[in-house]
Amino acid sequence: VRERYAEHNPRSQLAHKEAIAYFPGGSTRSVLRNLPFPLTLAGGQGSKVWDIDGHEYFDCLGDYSAALLGHSNSQVAEIVSSTLAGGVSLGGRNTIETSLAKSLRSRFDSMELMRFTSSGTEANIIAIAATRAFANRSKVLVFSGAFHGALLNFSGESEALNVPFSFIRSIYNDVPQLERTITKHSRDLAAVIIEPMLNSAGCIVARTDFLEEVRRLTAQFEIPLIFDEVVTSRLYFGGLQRKMGIRPEITTLGKYLGGGLNFGAVGGRAEIMSRFDMDGPDALVHSGTFNNNVLTMAAAREVLNIYGEKEAVALNNHGDCLRETLNGIALKTDSSLSFTGVGSMMQAHMRKGTIERPYSMQLNELLLREIFYLFMLEMGVWIGRRGLITLSLPIITDRTGVLVDAVEAF
Ligand code: PMP
Repeated sequence: VRERYAEHNPRSQLAHKEAIAYFPGGSTRSVLRNLPFPLTLAGGQGSKVWDIDGHEYFDCLGDYSAALLGHSNSQVAEIVSSTLAGGVSLGGRNTIETSLAKSLRSRFDSMELMRFTSSGTEANIIAIAATRAFANRSKVLVFSGAFHGALLNFSGESEALNVPFSFIRSIYNDVPQLERTITKHSRDLAAVIIEPMLNSAGCIVARTDFLEEVRRLTAQFEIPLIFDEVVTSRLYFGGLQRKMGIRPEITTLGKYLGGGLNFGAVGGRAEIMSRFDMDGPDALVHSGTFNNNVLTMAAAREVLNIYGEKEAVALNNHGDCLRETLNGIALKTDSSLSFTGVGSMMQAHMRKGTIERPYSMQLNELLLREIFYLFMLEMGVWIGRRGLITLSLPIITDRTGVLVDAVEAF
């Protein structure tokens, strides 16, 4: 399959050769890699993307969840170009940021006060800084397999070298272990940070009883709870916190909300977030040249107009049905595939059975995953190399039959 892939994509192969002269690994985004070389994209429209060798793909990746509206959404494009005409980096306050904050709070009511950032990574770093200052404690409880951004990667077993704070690990969906860890370290813990569904580890869904225990224990020991909803905020109107009825102290957002532009937000209890008021006592600095850039602010406001409650229900119901169909195919054909996830996000695993926590893949799973990925490309379906599938609004209209057929053929 690899040989066929190389023969089929000479321009991408050349582009990769050129790029490795400038970027370690050939890219400025770590996630964009696969063997023998990744494809280089030339453009996208709606649910389609094209590569530089002229192949068209049905985009079932949606930029790892950020392209929820599909590519080149006309409403967002219009707002961005009309805003552009009025100047971009103005260096002053603007009215759009306040109206965006108002729209966000009407959806995520736990975000009493908020700050905008340029990425999800930054939002999580700021969230942690705020809780450490508020709680006057230093450590953060994280879950193995979690990914909270470039510097906040807990996916490997090694103590991630570039994490800018000390942390204690716990195991996702393991209530007794969580109880032991929190009880033992409660006096040192400034925060517990959690993705309500583990994204990078493979769309691993949190059990309700587990998340309820996370909330109960953090409240009992007065440890601020950070919900990283950078990805999961798209899975329900108001994020998974609203769906599950759990109110965290701090929420972080990003990805799709910027309509394709870089965006992040951190918000939560006024008592904690007010530390960023520079006129208040013990103020924490959170500066950032592009925090209120008008293009992103305008685009994000438009995204909230487009992706309302009705649209969120439709997209995520579609995802639930699709996952059921795909798991049905896997069962019927007795293949070693299974699909996990919530609503519009899912991941193909090369194993059967319940998947409740991150796992190390066996060699046969790694090989099968690569074949699955390259096979999907041959069938004209663009997914994540790790098996990630993320639906966008235009995909519902264009129908996901292409993906179902490709999985059936596999
Ligand atoms: N949190 C989660 C759960 C993520 O999946 C990611 C990115 N994949 C981030 C934070 C970081 O967001 P960004 O890439 O915008 O820095």
